Amino acid sequence: MSHITSSNKKLAVFGNPIAQSKSPIIHQMFAAQFDIEISYERILGNENTFTAQLDAFFADNNAVGANITMPFKEKAASWATEKASAVKQAGAANTLIRNERGFRAETTDGKGLVSDLARNGVHLKNKRILLIGAGGAARGAIAALLTEQPEHIFITNRSEENAKRLVSIADDERVSAVIEGESDKLQVSVIINATSLSLSGKVPAISDAVFANQPAVYDMVYQDSDTAFITKAKSLGCEKSIDGLGMLVGQAAESFYLWFGVRPDPEPVLAYLRKELVQS
Ligand code: NDP
Repeated sequence: MSHITSSNKKLAVFGNPIAQSKSPIIHQMFAAQFDIEISYERILGNENTFTAQLDAFFADNNAVGANITMPFKEKAASWATEKASAVKQAGAANTLIRNERGFRAETTDGKGLVSDLARNGVHLKNKRILLIGAGGAARGAIAALLTEQPEHIFITNRSEENAKRLVSIADDERVSAVIEGESDKLQVSVIINATSLSLSGKVPAISDAVFANQPAVYDMVYQDSDTAFITKAKSLGCEKSIDGLGMLVGQAAESFYLWFGVRPDPEPVLAYLRKELVQS
């Protein structure tokens, strides 16, 4: 881990699109908690020249790190000179850190999810988890979820093939795929929606019976009001239903820790973003 002490620390988030990214404000607020001066810009990535853009950004020795978002997470992982094991497993990175040897790729989305669950009093040890979705977000979460020592993670997804692929990536006997239509037989105490369905106001095709034990429910999507999935979970009696805004802040807090070696308090940033979201 790099602990950089010089002033004028330069950071950026690369993505396409990027204008919507909340990372600059999140990291400026974190930096203010420690009186660290940073610059943090949004950089619109170009599909053809992305790695050259990274080279150019890091040519400045004050550039201590970067966040990477869609659609460059895989390319960033390949570009880095060393990779965390979760990056090797998922093949994607959302954080780059300059160190003495070069550039390390890390993925902090999963840790952000786990820390936000814990912040909400949801602990995963010995729990049975239903993970819905098998895209990049689910792939990025699986290693961090397993670190919490759950009893089992069931993965269900529209495309069964993608669910099976994720099971094989996880390569752990505590992870198995479940066909969507068979989810009604599951008894779980945590459900995580890692699909993009809430963005279009839809809910995954899982049976209401899965909610019978009133599991804690997490939707990675966040918006100004309850997502469709959270609305459904609440209507079925799940009082602990949490959206993904805290995951966003949690993954940023983990990146900040990797760059500066200090852990920011997510609460004031989360409160600010929630207020902004509701008012927008
Ligand atoms: P991907 O495009 O990689 O994966 C999308 C997932 O949603 C797949 O499992 C896909 O299933 C499923 N899906 C999409 N459309 C449908 C549909 N109509 N019916 C059923 N399933 C569908 O996206 P990501 O994994 O990167 O992201 C998923 C969500 O998580 C996004 O909405 C994103 O905003 C959110 N997210 C939130 C974060 C946070 O910090 N809060 C961080 C990262 C992501 P299939 O495999 O069958 O195509």
